[in-house]
Amino acid sequence: TPWRATVLTLFPEMFPGPLGVSLAGRALASGLWQIEARDIRASATDRHRSVDDTPAGGGPGMVLRADVLAAAIDAADIGPERPRLLMSPRGRPLTQAHVVELAQGPGPLIVCGRFEGIDQRVIDARGLEEVSIGDYVLSGGELAAMALIDACVRLLPGVMGKEASGAEESFSDGLLEYPQYTRPQLFEGVPIPEILTSGDHAKVAAWRRAQSEALTAARRPDLWAQIPPKAPNRPGRQK
Ligand code: SAM
Repeated sequence: TPWRATVLTLFPEMFPGPLGVSLAGRALASGLWQIEARDIRASATDRHRSVDDTPAGGGPGMVLRADVLAAAIDAADIGPERPRLLMSPRGRPLTQAHVVELAQGPGPLIVCGRFEGIDQRVIDARGLEEVSIGDYVLSGGELAAMALIDACVRLLPGVMGKEASGAEESFSDGLLEYPQYTRPQLFEGVPIPEILTSGDHAKVAAWRRAQSEALTAARRPDLWAQIPPKAPNRPGRQK
């Protein structure tokens, strides 16, 4: 069976949305992956179909009910081997390494929060792993889930062309990507760096590596600090 994302949301009509277009969309249409968006509200039990209630202890907003969400997770019936994720600003920051791991598995169940968040007891009882896509607050987990799914889908076998493997991209070797150029040769008086049109593949590779290292050191000292020092001329590392 193809890689599959099962999304629990109050807004299933948001899916596949942008995931139905371009690279991910073509792959979806050709059956390389699947998406199932399930409406959490379908698991509400009272006659108003309510899914949320006021926070215990007081405060603004509403909280997604544990019983309703637990019933929605159970109804999705995903089996024990698929990861169960909850999109959450409190979660473990999503990395390319985690994306690679998720893309290699059968595909996750993803719970999208709304309101002020969800009752802690369902996070604990259903073993939801909290994942964040960055240190800012969205109004709901759907866009975060789409970002995660998109990052996974482009890595699935057959989705990207043969030549574009993802092996040289940002984060694949712990570094940010080198600058890219294409025609025209001259843009507003600025030429493509000569080395890139030299045809010398070794020199091109060395230039790109040096550019990647300099960019990473300048922009992301947090990533740079994790690169083992080996080159003697590594910027920012000399003592
Ligand atoms: N009160 C919560 C807090 O302070 O952590 C924020 C809730 S937010 C308004 C509603 C939902 O959006 C969250 O439950 C989560 O599913 C999703 N969300 C918001 N920001 C996110 C982020 N940076 N990463 C992943 N999901 C996020």
